[in-house]
Amino acid sequence: MPDKYDVIVVGAGPAGYVAAIRAAQLGLKTACIEKWTNAEGKGVNGGTCLNVGCIPSKALLDSSHKYHETKTDLTNHGINVGDVDIDVKAMIGRKGKIVKQLTDGIAGLFKSNGVTSLFGTGKILAGRQVEYTDHEGNKQILATDNIIIATGSQPIDIPVAPVNGNTIIDSTGALELTETPKRLGVIGAGVIGLELGSVWNRLGSNVVLLEAMDDFLAMMDRQISKEAKKVFTKQGLDMRLSCRVTASEVKGNEVVVTYQNSEGKEKQEVFDKLIVCVGRRPHTEGLLAPDCGVNLDERGFIFVNDQCATNAPGVWAVGDVVRGPMLAHKGSEEGVMVAERIAGQKTQMNYDIIPNVIYTHPEIAAVGKTEEQLKQAGESYNLGIFPFIASGRALAADETDGMVKMIADAKTDRILGCHIIGPSAADLVQQVAIAMEFGSTAEDIGMTVFGHPTLSEAVHEAALAVNGHAIHIPNRKKRK
Ligand code: FAD
Ligand code: AMP
Repeated sequence: MPDKYDVIVVGAGPAGYVAAIRAAQLGLKTACIEKWTNAEGKGVNGGTCLNVGCIPSKALLDSSHKYHETKTDLTNHGINVGDVDIDVKAMIGRKGKIVKQLTDGIAGLFKSNGVTSLFGTGKILAGRQVEYTDHEGNKQILATDNIIIATGSQPIDIPVAPVNGNTIIDSTGALELTETPKRLGVIGAGVIGLELGSVWNRLGSNVVLLEAMDDFLAMMDRQISKEAKKVFTKQGLDMRLSCRVTASEVKGNEVVVTYQNSEGKEKQEVFDKLIVCVGRRPHTEGLLAPDCGVNLDERGFIFVNDQCATNAPGVWAVGDVVRGPMLAHKGSEEGVMVAERIAGQKTQMNYDIIPNVIYTHPEIAAVGKTEEQLKQAGESYNLGIFPFIASGRALAADETDGMVKMIADAKTDRILGCHIIGPSAADLVQQVAIAMEFGSTAEDIGMTVFGHPTLSEAVHEAALAVNGHAIHIPNRKKRK
């Protein structure tokens, strides 16, 4: 091991491993410390995202969607398949293989880029030093010019429903169920609750989502979240808003959940499994020596400025452990920014253009400002909406739920936001994110030639609709 590193990254999730790779690419002597171990007790990189987050959840969303589509939707295409069987263990096994392939892939990338991979726990000490404890308990003090903290986040526990790993589980447990629970409760109808609820709903569970707030998907554009609620209800998700869970009691193989409904009445529901999805908190336990000089903010996140520098010179922090949306790609971009700034570049990340996706079916995706945010800020804007029912490609695919909603500045026509619920919404919104990054107007997208027939044409038409030029729907406002 070298006497001194240029950069030590603590945490190898999407924020940390990307920072480490970029730093090494820039010629910096880099080590990355990661404490995660797999079921065999072996150290693995990839963090929440690869091990128990984005990737495994999408693997199960895709598998469960194929099952559900085969069972219920193929007849619309004239395909009769008879009885459709499901092997949940095989589904979980497939997910495990994908996780292994990707986490092993990080090890390969570290090797090819020259990142020193250290399995164990990192602790930030004063004076640009890191205490590294390996999985055997051996301790070593490592010196470095720069430290990047990328220790991520953990599920929040609530005392009214303590996770026991059997009847009451968190998002990690919900990715490991080997049979479909008959009655499944989910506390929290946020992004993770909706995705996991959708998986098990498609596989045959009766899913009840209990959500304390009365505002469904409050961070999304209101028109999109209203449409989402309609679609999910049609899919059989029992979403109970303004329902706060106040207690739970495990009785044998069941859990009795008590909640207060919108009228303030106490109600009970019995489930075979209960998933607690009430959000995530920054992971900082045991991380910071008292004299290391790194401050936390009032919510327990590591305090950083716009460039992800902490209070302590030479110490940076990126990803879920700092303010901002808890999204893998947000952390990765912060990791790149910090590595490049350490190497002397002036990289600055654009926090205004971060796409946000919910991988339900149909998908929900957004970038930029919502209509409500613009109204509140008193900004004037024009809207263009194109429903997928009017898209030839969506009709051909039998995927007609949803819409594209484009919002542009009323004076400059610059795109301020795009909100989509519909087929491939995640990939469609990315096209708009690229356009926004280049300062595009709605007219710029309107003047771009789109292939036919594609789902992307819905983005084109929504952009045209902003200025009253849509061709395949009546325009709300006619403009020349
Ligand atoms: P993490 O991925 O949490 O990684 C932090 C790493 O640091 C961990 O490996 C941890 O073991 C390690 N660590 C912590 N403390 C120490 C220490 N002291 N020493 C050494 N190592 C340490 N986001 C999306 O963008 N898209 C999605 O589709 C999506 N789906 C999700 C689905 C689920 C079920 C969940 C739970 C999350 C999902 N997320 C998604 C969120 C995403 O996983 C996180 O935003 C992302 O993983 C954060 O990256 P990170 O690198 O900051 O932290
Ligand atoms: P997110 O932060 O997107 O993961 O969503 C978590 C959701 O859980 C939020 O919408 C919270 O309102 C909800 N929540 C938190 N505590 C409770 C509770 N006791 N009962 C029901 N919902 C809750």
